[in-house]
Amino acid sequence: MHCPFCAAEDTKVIDSRLVAEGEQVRRRRECLTCGERFTTFETAELLMPRVVKRDGSREPFNEDKLRAGLQRALRKRPVSIEQMEASLNHVKARLRQTGERELPARRIGEELMAELKKLDHVAYVRFASVYRNFQDVAAFAEEIERLALDDEGGAAAASGALPARGNADPRSA
Ligand SMILES: [Zn+2]
Repeated sequence: MHCPFCAAEDTKVIDSRLVAEGEQVRRRRECLTCGERFTTFETAELLMPRVVKRDGSREPFNEDKLRAGLQRALRKRPVSIEQMEASLNHVKARLRQTGERELPARRIGEELMAELKKLDHVAYVRFASVYRNFQDVAAFAEEIERLALDDEGGAAAASGALPARGNADPRSA
C-alpha cells in the first residue's frame, strides 16, 4: 500500500499480529522511501442490515442490544456463554443471508426467538413474553401448547415462567 506521508508506492510490512480476539489483523508498515512508519488494521467486512423500527425510523444493527436481550432471557439458565454467542452468530448469519439492506426489528426478534427455542425453553418463553408483550394471550397459550408437543420435559420446565393465572390480562402484563 502507498505511504500516507510521501505517497511512495512501496511500503514494507514489518510486523503483523492478530488482535481483537483474532477478528482483526494489525500491521506495522514502513515506507521504503521516507522511512515513516504507520499502522493498518484489517477486518472482514460483514455488513449487517439496518433495523427498521415499528415507527418506521431506522437504526444501525446493534449486536450489544441483541446480546443483552439474550442474557436477560438466559439469566440463571444452564446455558454457557459459548452457546449463547453461537446463537448470536447464527442470528447474525441468517440476517446477513437475507441479502437485505434493511430488515424490520420484528424479523430480528423472530430470529432470536427461534434460536432461544433451540437453546432453552424457559429462556424462550421469557423472551417471547417480553417481546410479544402478551398482546394476544391466545397466541401465547398456543405457543405453550406447541412447546408441549415439541418436547414434554421442556414445556413442563417452561410452565415455571408463566404468569399467574389471574395475571393473564395483556394490559397488566
Ligand atoms: Zn514515505
